[in-house]
Amino acid sequence: MTTPTIELKPSSTPLSGAEREAILANPGFGRHFTDHMVTIRWTEGRGWHDGQLVPYGPLSLDPATNVLHYAQEIFEGLKAYRRPDGTVATFRPEMNARRFQASARRLAMPELPAETFIEACDALVRQDIAWVPAHGGEESLYLRPFMIATEVGLGVKPANEYLFIVIASPAGAYFAGGVKPVSIWLSEDRVRAVPGGMGDAKTGGNYAASLLAQAEAAAEGCDQVAYLDAVEHKWVEELGGMNLYFVYGDKIVTPELTGSLLAGVTRDSLLSVARDLGYESVEDRVSIDQWQADSENGTLTEVFACGTAAVITPVGTVKRAGAQWTQSGGEPGEVTLKLREALLDIQRGTSADKHGWMHQL
Ligand code: PMP
Repeated sequence: MTTPTIELKPSSTPLSGAEREAILANPGFGRHFTDHMVTIRWTEGRGWHDGQLVPYGPLSLDPATNVLHYAQEIFEGLKAYRRPDGTVATFRPEMNARRFQASARRLAMPELPAETFIEACDALVRQDIAWVPAHGGEESLYLRPFMIATEVGLGVKPANEYLFIVIASPAGAYFAGGVKPVSIWLSEDRVRAVPGGMGDAKTGGNYAASLLAQAEAAAEGCDQVAYLDAVEHKWVEELGGMNLYFVYGDKIVTPELTGSLLAGVTRDSLLSVARDLGYESVEDRVSIDQWQADSENGTLTEVFACGTAAVITPVGTVKRAGAQWTQSGGEPGEVTLKLREALLDIQRGTSADKHGWMHQL
């Protein structure tokens, strides 16, 4: 596989320092983008080529471009953090690179070499390093690598041309006013993914499929949907954009990777961080009835969701057809908050990186 170099063609009109600082004062999430993007093309017979760092801007696509019709698309999400010494590091980018390759295989797309994925992210962060928020809070620069099928034509087949792009967006603290539990709607009829489907790939179609269930959750007064397995409608899988953890005293349990849920980088990291803190951490099956019964009998002490965007989000109220209950009195649980701080400390560079997870630029 060829590994293209990335030619730097920076913008001659980046935002001024004052304009950028105004955005960084209140970035929100996914609303503002940095001055540049990286693009790399793939063409059948030629492989990866034309790596470029260029000014951020619109794409020009023929209306018959394959991705617009058949959704041959994959993406990733990872963050760059400012460290106490002012340097910048990304969190476990090689895991995102490998997951991107796995998603590519599932969507019949070419695999981008992991070192090219990481180099593309690094090139963008290096160029737009002033967009990485200052050290201290939970702010970061969110990176969104993605790939689309760019062959023009309406034939249903793997495309013979693709475009890989990385864009970056400053992200504020997910919980501006302190960590607040989310409410969960346990959907017993809508499913997110099926065995043999693409639930373990990070592809736009999975998110399109989740929007109606998300609207139903909102109608039930809940923030997020928890999905069950598609065969027995019994085993808890994950939320639309986060994995789940169940806390039983000093043991934490996350649903095992069955192929229909996403292998989250945060999920994987917490299995280790929990052990570092002296907790037991396991991957297992958790049923919806067990969730309810163990909450009601008090053995299930906390539940939390995890993912790159929010790191760890406590679960408060849980609602299913005909029942509703509250985890840890509707407050963020002690184990949840300890794990959250421990992982954030590694990401922000305020504690030792004993697992070698931070990729310093
Ligand atoms: N599940 C889904 C469906 C997701 O979209 C995400 C976000 N990438 C996650 C779980 C959490 O994964 P990660 O920790 O890698 O962000």
